[in-house]
Amino acid sequence: MSYPKIIVDLKKLQKNVESVVKHCETEGIFVTGVTKVFCGYPEIAQAYIDGGVKYLGDSRMENLKKMKDLDIEKYMLRLPMISEAKDIVEYADISLNSELATIKAINNAAIEAGKTHKIIFMMDLGDLREGFFSEEEFLNTVEETLKLSNIKIVGIGTNMACYGGIVPEIEHVEKLGYFKALLKEKFDLDLEIISGGNSATIHLVEKKSTGVINNLRLGETLTIGQEPSYEKRMPNSYDDVFTVEVEIIEVKEKPSYPIGKIGKDAFGNIPTFDDKGVRKRMICAMGKQDIDFGTMFPLDDKIQIFGGSSDHIILDGTDSETDYKVGDKVKFKLEYVAVLRAMTSEYVTKEIIK
Ligand SMILES: *Cc1c(COP(=O)(O)O)cnc(C)c1O
Repeated sequence: MSYPKIIVDLKKLQKNVESVVKHCETEGIFVTGVTKVFCGYPEIAQAYIDGGVKYLGDSRMENLKKMKDLDIEKYMLRLPMISEAKDIVEYADISLNSELATIKAINNAAIEAGKTHKIIFMMDLGDLREGFFSEEEFLNTVEETLKLSNIKIVGIGTNMACYGGIVPEIEHVEKLGYFKALLKEKFDLDLEIISGGNSATIHLVEKKSTGVINNLRLGETLTIGQEPSYEKRMPNSYDDVFTVEVEIIEVKEKPSYPIGKIGKDAFGNIPTFDDKGVRKRMICAMGKQDIDFGTMFPLDDKIQIFGGSSDHIILDGTDSETDYKVGDKVKFKLEYVAVLRAMTSEYVTKEIIK
């Protein structure tokens, strides 16, 4: 198999999922396994199912299509485009929504397909990405949606810690409780799903502060085994489900400080350097197009990442006990952004270990 290569360990992934699902069950929460970080590869999504998630979720239609044969209900996580209403009805069972025009378009597509489509209304509780901000608009939309023949309102939800970086806390849970009660009072609606957020919300499970929440949509926590709000490891989880292997294409002793007047680098930034003298510099054949340097960590912890460009990673191999040579491979474990980029890059071979 060619390099660079990302290796996905399905046994470890399933273990992570089992641990997190069990953890969430203690507070009556069922898990939607979010597949976008690995581009919806069905073999990988199957490990989520085997690990006990109740639903799958993805933000991209292409990924939902790849998973169409998996026998489990699926969420469309990103607000649908009106132009994809037909596909939403065909490939997703539930979608997250905040726009009446879109919901009407989905209803029309559902009528044509002879199906009922379920929706969750998204509430913006301050992170300022998607969701209703005005209570009045929300109530009007619910009222109008109730008139649509092929749409079923199944829940409300929110998403935090994405755009605004707002940490989900008990006050946000209480707001969801308020909206749930409001729909009961105004429209006699009994919501089956209160979808409390993404991985950044799971810290509330341990604190037993999840209130009305009975669903979390989890990607990072399942794949990396980490709770992102306070960066705590999940119990009984692996941080190396995803690793990457890159090949060394040059090894030379060179200074660590560039020679000449420093202008812009390949990405238009003015770089800064520490002068550490002459070092053993190792160039690997992978770059920023395929990976994120800030979320990849060498398994040989004596190696440092100097930096790189679109197609190159430059490593400092001076302190390593291994005498790396051209053609040798270097392994890294990956966190979320690096996994996302490596799985998305067509230049990276995917190896799935069962
Ligand atoms: C990506 C996404 C998630 C999952 O996020 P993680 O941080 O990976 O858990 C959940 N909900 C929505 C709406 C998303 O877009």
